[in-house]
Amino acid sequence: MSRFIGKFAVVTGAARGIGAAIARRLAAEGAAVACVDLTADRCASIVDEITVTGGRGVAFGCDVSDSAQVEALVPEVLNEFGRIDVLVNNAGLTRDNLLFRMSEEDWDKVVDVNLKSVFLMSRAVQKHMVEQRSGAIVNLSSRSALGNRGQANYAAAKAGIQGLTATMAIELGPFGVRVNAVAPGYVATPMTEATAVRLGVTPEEHQATMAQAVPLRRVGQPTEVAAVVAFFASDDASYVTGQTLYVNGGPR
Ligand code: NAP
Repeated sequence: MSRFIGKFAVVTGAARGIGAAIARRLAAEGAAVACVDLTADRCASIVDEITVTGGRGVAFGCDVSDSAQVEALVPEVLNEFGRIDVLVNNAGLTRDNLLFRMSEEDWDKVVDVNLKSVFLMSRAVQKHMVEQRSGAIVNLSSRSALGNRGQANYAAAKAGIQGLTATMAIELGPFGVRVNAVAPGYVATPMTEATAVRLGVTPEEHQATMAQAVPLRRVGQPTEVAAVVAFFASDDASYVTGQTLYVNGGPR
């Protein structure tokens, strides 16, 4: 498929995991991709990978939870690309704990990086998309939005993304800008590997345990999330906006 030839995309948290898979997928379909992570050098390997396969990737450093850094990033990307057609708000992190042990610092960090970042990046990029009367924004929510033990902060942030997605779709629809969200279940990435290590098991053991509760009886892969993000970002989804699609191997 080559749905993104001539298109320019921004992917946050692109250095690894689901973000890297999204950057890889959009580039493989022809997009020039701004790979954003906390520092530009963290994106060196994904940018190299895109470049050797004949694509265009450019690395940018930005803490997407920091308003000043986001306001500086967007003109930098526009300076490089001239336009932004697709924004994927993927950067995220977890700081799990039961509510009674959860610190205010861990609450704030998780809400800022997962939710406030989506507000900041979307606010900065929509100005440009509204002017060009087109654009697609895709946000990473999570199955945890429905509630997950030990993730009060993360669940609240990911549920917040769904409300923000629907609201942005209403506000930006008249200007030709679509906004959707993808809510993955358990996906094998460095984020879930870190969870396994924290629980004192190997990533493989953790994945096998988690897979038992999934109707498809396996955990997800980053490429399977990237495929759905690419659908929402593409013209194949030209009449789809304000939606959250669960990519979790089935309901439970
Ligand atoms: P990951 O492997 O931890 O990758 C996330 C990337 O985001 C990392 O490169 C990370 O940098 C970067 N990042 C963190 N904070 C940032 C900030 N403030 N500014 C810019 N970049 C930042 O995570 P993942 O598993 O691929 O998850 C990607 C997205 O999918 C997240 O929004 C996550 O919540 C969501 N999700 C994941 C799963 C899953 O099972 N994996 C399930 C549902 C939803 P560092 O390396 O420096 O931390």
